[in-house]
Amino acid sequence: MRDHFEARTFDGAGRVGELRVPRAGVTVETPALLPVVNPHIETVTPNELETEFGAQILITNGYILSQSEDLREEALERGLHDLYDFSGAIMTDSGSFQLAEYGDIDTDTEEILRFQHDVGSDIGTPVDIPTPPDVSRERAEAELATTQERLELAETVDVGDMLVNAPVQGSTYTDLREQAGRHAAGTDLDVFPVGAVVPMLNSYRYADMVNVVAAAKRGLTTDAPVHLFGAGHPMMFALAVAMGCDLFDSAAYALYARDDRYLTVRGTEHLADLEYFPCSCPVCADHTPAEVQACDDASRERLLARHNLHVTFEEMRRVKQAVRTGNLLELVDVRARGHPAMLDGYRALLDHADQLERTDPVGKDAFFHVSAESSRRPEVLRHHQRLARLSVPEGTDLLCSEGEKNDDFDETWRLAAPFGPYPRHLSDSYPLTAELPERRSREAYETAADGVAALAEANPEVSLTVAHWQWPDSALARLPDGVAVRPLGE
Ligand SMILES: [Zn+2]
Repeated sequence: MRDHFEARTFDGAGRVGELRVPRAGVTVETPALLPVVNPHIETVTPNELETEFGAQILITNGYILSQSEDLREEALERGLHDLYDFSGAIMTDSGSFQLAEYGDIDTDTEEILRFQHDVGSDIGTPVDIPTPPDVSRERAEAELATTQERLELAETVDVGDMLVNAPVQGSTYTDLREQAGRHAAGTDLDVFPVGAVVPMLNSYRYADMVNVVAAAKRGLTTDAPVHLFGAGHPMMFALAVAMGCDLFDSAAYALYARDDRYLTVRGTEHLADLEYFPCSCPVCADHTPAEVQACDDASRERLLARHNLHVTFEEMRRVKQAVRTGNLLELVDVRARGHPAMLDGYRALLDHADQLERTDPVGKDAFFHVSAESSRRPEVLRHHQRLARLSVPEGTDLLCSEGEKNDDFDETWRLAAPFGPYPRHLSDSYPLTAELPERRSREAYETAADGVAALAEANPEVSLTVAHWQWPDSALARLPDGVAVRPLGE
């Protein structure tokens, strides 16, 4: 049992939890955003991140510090918390990113972990190998073996009460990611970054990202805090949290600002293309795009970085509230409309509905059926699993109807797309209390037919009749042989 992390409230695989960071003496509420602080370029100071934006944790590069002539000694002497004037938790990276980028670094796991400890880092990182997507299986396996050796070595380094990351690699091979997750969970390391997803995110491969995270999560345990390493665009927070990510780091706020790019929850805009700011943060409330455009480079970068941070923290708060309310998947659904690749990510998420179902709460306030994808939510899957276990007395003449009760039958159950049939006494229980649109998608009716099929299969000695309002032929075709069909309103 990892006693430094506790997931408190779930929605799907998403959770609001607490990460206790003993060395900093702080508890970080998750999902959390770690702004990346570049030791050499402080677009926004760590103190501002804490006091103005509410950052409870940040990440900085331990390797760059260790190689920096001007900062190395100062960091060792003063410690990171004093150097940065930041009282929250500080995570440090090891140089693995530089290794992936430049092919070579001048340190090893033991040395860099000790250095991270000596500068006062609260969560350190060994030197893992970030294997990019789509490499040969041989390479992915060999590099994963090296990463795993380094995790085992990291376990033996005495770093006091500094927490240590156990990165999960494996490229785009989901079986390797799952195995890597299981191995990492078996170490006594503390935080679990899913590594090398940045190339996927940069090329909008959100479905691949979801599949890789889902695989890592299958190997990890529920008490393992998961960091989506290098992910900081607010448009994908809801999606990644729904798959079970707890930590995110954003260099995007500063990098994008340097490029005159303006973050929104629907994607990225170029400042030059904006006539209006679709945001009410202090920057956008006080300036027009033309005014920001007219600023000198340093002021413009600073203003854009601040807006980018505001929108990023705001989205994280929105995601946490959605987990608490139980409507995270509805937020994912909204975000999925921002870009076709996000829709692919959402659909990939729903391919893992069985995985989401395991931690999805049995009861929530409301289920809003808002799209064809709503039919594939874990609540619908759970209802179908329940139908497959429901036993109806042999010989019952059962009507499943979208219309009225009918006394010609032994019993009448309700029928509602996308759920399928259910006994009337369940009408007031979640998710059958769902708010449904009058005009549902073809998929909703097809899914309801699958529910009828699950019930029929579990109860072969029951005579089933489906009474429906204009179901599409594709849904009627999915009803098993032997189920009688009665169109209503004719
Ligand atoms: Zn703004």
